[in-house]
Amino acid sequence: MADPFILHPSFILFNHTMSDTTAPQKFEFQAEIKQLLDIVIHSLYTEKEIFVRELVSNASDALEKLRHTQLTEKEIFDDRLELEINLTTDDKARTLTIQDFGIGMTREELVENLGTIAHSGSKQFLKALGEGGAKNASLIGQFGVGFYSAFMVAKSVKVYAHSWRADAPGHVWSSDGSGSYAVEASDAQRRGCKIVVELKDDCSEFSQDWKIKEILERYSAFVSFPINLNGKRINTVQALWLRSKNEIKDEEYTEFYKFQSHAHDEPRLRLHFSADAPLAINALLFVPKDNTEKLGFSRLEASVSLYCRKVLIDAAPKDLLPEWLRFLKGVVDSEDLPLNISRETMQDRALIEKLNRVITKRFLKFLEEEAKNRPDAYNEFYAEYGIFLKEGAAMDFTHKEQLTKLLRFESSLTEKGKTTSLADYITRMGGEQKEIYYLVGPNRAAIESGPYLEGFKARTLEVLFCYESVDEYVMNNVREFDGKKLTAADHADVKLSDLPKAEGALSEDDTQKLITFLKETLGERVAEVKASDRLVDSPALALNADKFMSPHMRRMMKAMNKDGGDSPLRINLEINPRSAVMKRLFGLACAPTTTEATPAGNPEKARLVAGQILDNALISAGLLDDPNAMVARLYKLLESV
Ligand code: ADP
Ligand code: MG
Repeated sequence: MADPFILHPSFILFNHTMSDTTAPQKFEFQAEIKQLLDIVIHSLYTEKEIFVRELVSNASDALEKLRHTQLTEKEIFDDRLELEINLTTDDKARTLTIQDFGIGMTREELVENLGTIAHSGSKQFLKALGEGGAKNASLIGQFGVGFYSAFMVAKSVKVYAHSWRADAPGHVWSSDGSGSYAVEASDAQRRGCKIVVELKDDCSEFSQDWKIKEILERYSAFVSFPINLNGKRINTVQALWLRSKNEIKDEEYTEFYKFQSHAHDEPRLRLHFSADAPLAINALLFVPKDNTEKLGFSRLEASVSLYCRKVLIDAAPKDLLPEWLRFLKGVVDSEDLPLNISRETMQDRALIEKLNRVITKRFLKFLEEEAKNRPDAYNEFYAEYGIFLKEGAAMDFTHKEQLTKLLRFESSLTEKGKTTSLADYITRMGGEQKEIYYLVGPNRAAIESGPYLEGFKARTLEVLFCYESVDEYVMNNVREFDGKKLTAADHADVKLSDLPKAEGALSEDDTQKLITFLKETLGERVAEVKASDRLVDSPALALNADKFMSPHMRRMMKAMNKDGGDSPLRINLEINPRSAVMKRLFGLACAPTTTEATPAGNPEKARLVAGQILDNALISAGLLDDPNAMVARLYKLLESV
């Protein structure tokens, strides 16, 4: 019998004049799909067997969708068919057939779903190839190019499909992957899809029962629908999250994570728990190894799936967890949910909110325990995911307290690379100290060598070091912890206790004179000049007198080209009467008119030095906008050396 799927050339020629949708019709693949197919077919990717996993996972998706449709639609085509996946091998014909009684596809859906690039996996794959991974076929395994992976092993693929809609006739889609495909009417499948893969000569092993069995056992153990191979049931493992913790092996958890999250890494942390009140919950949550947002991938989207008694309700419900937990993977199963839960009704929304609260609380408690019992693992987690906790601490008022407890920072008392919690910081506070101090800077060395830390060091006050650009925003939003205010150590309002007067400092009178001179000389460039209680070694420091715009924030606004980055500065200059530079400047500026006995006075030079001191302080604060005037002045000063 002639193969009905081979198109007669005359048909292709006259195709455009035909409107009869029962006759075969030929289509070109979309350009991106052609590109994808070309790579898939010609890659030497060794793990060709993943195509089985991809096709089975599509079948499982289709069954899941059918189950949902059954909840809302009365008329389902062939409603009594079992929700199961059947595979058959034929080693004589060298074919593998994968069949499901799922949602199926209409003619339009066949064209749309299998002819154009709509789904995320393939898109990301192509993007990654474009971004320098060019021709790196091993990426196929990482992204899972879905349906098209069949063409790694297939001479031809035929998809017999019948939609769940009773009035939509059946069709078969067929292609050899070389640029075009055909669709024509066919009743060979009842409801759902049957995919017949005709294997290439060197891939005939995939028509062997034992081979497919091995593959299914490896990849598809967690599919929640029965899978039969040549009539024999393969998967017996059931919803892992409902089993008791102590009978589950680590490897089982990991396999489940990989299956459920389409992941290829080992999870970094996992939490498996159940609760009875206020809701019956079984949850299995994973933190993936890497924070992909940090690696520069796109923003993560909520992906913990919601089940009710093992039935998937929503694979990626948006409101199940707070935004800042978007890095979590896994499953939440609650018996208390209606299967057709809707985000629109108040009652259902309230249920989801309740779930959200319970799970978030439990996860935060889990992190607290981790931090206590396995600090090294926690710190590694924090290095990767701390940014999410900061986001939460700053934005999620309900969980702020718990989240702030979980934050970690280096400080002036920790070693480089070691961190402290705010709670531990408080245990080290002296009786006098009322506030928690922090400094924002690009790294430890920059903060330690700047002028701001000295005064705190001299009084053995601990200062937290914040290196991330969000830190300032976070600290401003968190505001306080355990009744202690979080205060920027470079803020103009910080008051420090008196230190014993150092030997050889300028007298108070002379300091006052010098201050008057500086005010006159620097004019509008400074809002205030005063003797500093925070300087020990450095001659001067600049404080931004603008309450609402810290130096760091101003730098950020400037970098982002936002309003505010260019607002005129209001600077308080603090000077150090102990510093040799200040004493020398006093001599230049305030000594009585030059006589032979006191040759020091040189008002012209004093003005240059004053300007330079201010600019130096601004540089340390990251606030010097235009270095040109400074450089010119410095040359002038150097002339007189
Ligand atoms: P993905 O599964 O990531 O969406 P695939 O390439 O695996 O991408 O599949 C493409 C699309 O084809 C699916 O989104 C689905 O709409 C459709 N599809 C594939 N297999 C089936 C099937 N067995 N039943 C119904 N639709 C299917
Ligand atoms: Mg798929």
